[in-house]
Amino acid sequence: MNVITRFQESFLQRISEPLLGDREISLWIRREDLIHPEISGNKWWKLSGNLQEILDKSSSPTLLTFGGAYSNHLYATASACAELGIPCIGIVRGEIPEPRNATLTFASDKGMELVSVSRSEYRNNAQISEKYQRIIPNLYVVPEGGTNEAAVLSCTAIVDDRMKEMNYVCVPAGTGGTMAGIIGGMENHGVVLGFSALKGDFLSEEVNGLLKKAFPERDLKHWRMITDYHHGGYARISDELIAFIQSFYGAHGILLDPVYTGKMMFGIYDMIRRDLFPAGSSICAIHTGGLQGWNGIRERYGIDPTSF
Ligand SMILES: *Cc1c(COP(=O)(O)O)cnc(C)c1O
Repeated sequence: MNVITRFQESFLQRISEPLLGDREISLWIRREDLIHPEISGNKWWKLSGNLQEILDKSSSPTLLTFGGAYSNHLYATASACAELGIPCIGIVRGEIPEPRNATLTFASDKGMELVSVSRSEYRNNAQISEKYQRIIPNLYVVPEGGTNEAAVLSCTAIVDDRMKEMNYVCVPAGTGGTMAGIIGGMENHGVVLGFSALKGDFLSEEVNGLLKKAFPERDLKHWRMITDYHHGGYARISDELIAFIQSFYGAHGILLDPVYTGKMMFGIYDMIRRDLFPAGSSICAIHTGGLQGWNGIRERYGIDPTSF
C-alpha cells in the first residue's frame, strides 16, 4: 500500500559469535522490526491485506478491532489508520488504566476511539461487532491480533528467495497467523519453527486450521511448533529472559521485544546449545518487531531497555 510512507525494505542481518561458529551454524535475522517506526513488523504485513480489502470495498470505511491494554496490534492499527485516513475503534479488553498507559495514549493520540469492555464481554466479540455494525455503516471488523485469512495470505510475502534456501525459518507465534503465512510462503522449502509466546500446545491446531482455510489445495507439512520457551505464559517474563535480551543487545545491537522475539531467540540459542540443530544448518529468525511491548514491561516490572 504505497499511500503509507516511511517504509523501509527489510533485510537479512548475519549474526556472528563463537557459539555459532563452533557448530558451523549460520544465523540470520530478518529485520522486519525496521520497516516502519510505528507500524511494527508482522502487524503491518497482517494489516496490509485487510486494509487493501477495506479500501477496495468502500470509500468511507470504519475499522473496528480488538486488543489488550498493551497490544502491538492496536498500536499498529491506530498508526496505519491515521496515515490512511480510516476512522477506527479499538475495543480494549478490561479496564482502560487511568492515567492511560503509553500504548493506549499513543493509539488515542492517533485518533483511535478506545472502548473498554469487561473481560467476559470481550470474549463475545461477535456480539460486540454486531452491535457496532448496526449503528456504523461500512464497518469492517478485524479480529484480535489481526489474524484472519487475508492476514495469513499477505504474510506469505515476508518470504523471499534467500529465506527459501534456509534450513530453518523461525518465527514467534501468538495467534499463529504470521507463522501460517510464512509456511505458505516457504512452499515446503526448509522447516518453519514457530516459538509459542503462550503456555500450552493448542497453537499447532490453530495453525492447522489457518493453513486449511488460506491454502486449502496445498499440503504444507514442513513446520513445527516449539512450546518450551513461554517463560511462564503470555507477557510473563523471567530473569533469565531479560538477561538474555540484554546480552544479545550488548553483543549485536539488536533489541528484541520481551513478549515475542526475545522468547524466540532465547529458544533458538538454547536449542543451538543443546545441539538440536545439525551442524552446518542455516537458520533465519524473523524479528517481527513489537518493541512498543516494552511499555508494558516498563510499567509493570520497572525494566527499561534503554538502560541496557
Ligand atoms: C503479534 C506479534 C506476534 C505474533 O503474531 P501472530 O500472527 O499472532 O502469531 C509475533 N511477534 C510480534 C512482535 C507481535 O507483535
